[in-house]
Amino acid sequence: MTPPTPVLQRPAGAQEVPGLLVGSRAVNGGTDLLVQRRAGIEAPTLLDLRAVRAEVPVLERTATGDLRISALHTLTEVATALAGALVPLQESIALFASTTIRNRATIGGNLANGSPAADTVPPLLVLDAAVDVVGAGGTRTVPLADFLLGPRRVDLRADEWIRTVTVPEGACGPTRPAAGFRKIGGRQAQAISFLSLAWQWRASERDALTDVRFAMGAVAPTVVRLHTLERLLEGTTPGPEVIAEAANAVEHDIRPIDDLRASAAYRRRCAAGLVREALGAWTAMPTRDER
Ligand SMILES: Cc1cc2nc3c(=O)[nH]c(=O)nc-3n(C[C@H](O)[C@H](O)[C@H](O)COP(=O)(O)OP(=O)(O)OC[C@H]3O[C@@H](n4cnc5c(N)ncnc54)[C@H](O)[C@@H]3O)c2cc1C
Repeated sequence: MTPPTPVLQRPAGAQEVPGLLVGSRAVNGGTDLLVQRRAGIEAPTLLDLRAVRAEVPVLERTATGDLRISALHTLTEVATALAGALVPLQESIALFASTTIRNRATIGGNLANGSPAADTVPPLLVLDAAVDVVGAGGTRTVPLADFLLGPRRVDLRADEWIRTVTVPEGACGPTRPAAGFRKIGGRQAQAISFLSLAWQWRASERDALTDVRFAMGAVAPTVVRLHTLERLLEGTTPGPEVIAEAANAVEHDIRPIDDLRASAAYRRRCAAGLVREALGAWTAMPTRDER
């Protein structure tokens, strides 16, 4: 049975949010919260963060060249503002749910929900993003990897909300096939990922990979960086042997489980397959000498 309709509060400005949040629940697009209410998770008071959206720019370049992305605006608005930048994030938004959901859902809601299958998290992890959290005591910035504590658990106190995520200038730049996002779900749209992969690297003079980053969703209690794989690939020029080794190395960084959506064994096979696919697309490019 759906619980009683909660009271919806609209803060007059961002400065009111921390005080009002204690004892209530933030709501933004409502695409997760509505489903949770049907499952019986009650919130007697909801605090409508859309009321302070206008105070946060959708996208802002800081004085040091970092990109600050609103956690409050819809995914559609974020994708439009990015205009092709940050390829892994851009691609994850393109594959997110459906137009209707993208027109409501936000990065803030996706992060706060703490799902190991959240689609914007692998790209933000490879982009080395930090989460800008605002509370009664001011703003603190938490590296995304530290923000994710476990399934449905994130580093947010009762009075805190997510204002923006910041991508350092140094992480911006690589484009396909050196950067991207892939997910596997039960169907093309409106499907929760049972596996997702974001990646990016740079290619040095000799076409060796540097600054290699991979992150995978739905294979551990939180989305994880694939550090073993990254170390293995750093400085290499992928060919068939390196790719085979890389596909095997994924195993060290993931701990998939059997659940309703997929078995652990199937997730392991898909994990290796997606890594092979990402590296294969890179090696299929003409080499420097052939260009
Ligand atoms: C049909 C359907 C398809 C979906 N497909 C996908 C998909 O493909 N990929 C995917 O990853 N997810 C998917 N989802 C899940 C959901 O859409 C996302 O997690 C979305 O990003 C949540 O954002 P929201 O603004 O709607 O969050 P809300 O539902 O408003 O909030 C979710 C949670 O985050 C908290 N919260 C929201 N904003 C903030 C903030 N700024 N600061 C602090 N806490 C906050 C809320 O209190 C709540 O606990 C789908 C959901 C539905 C219903």
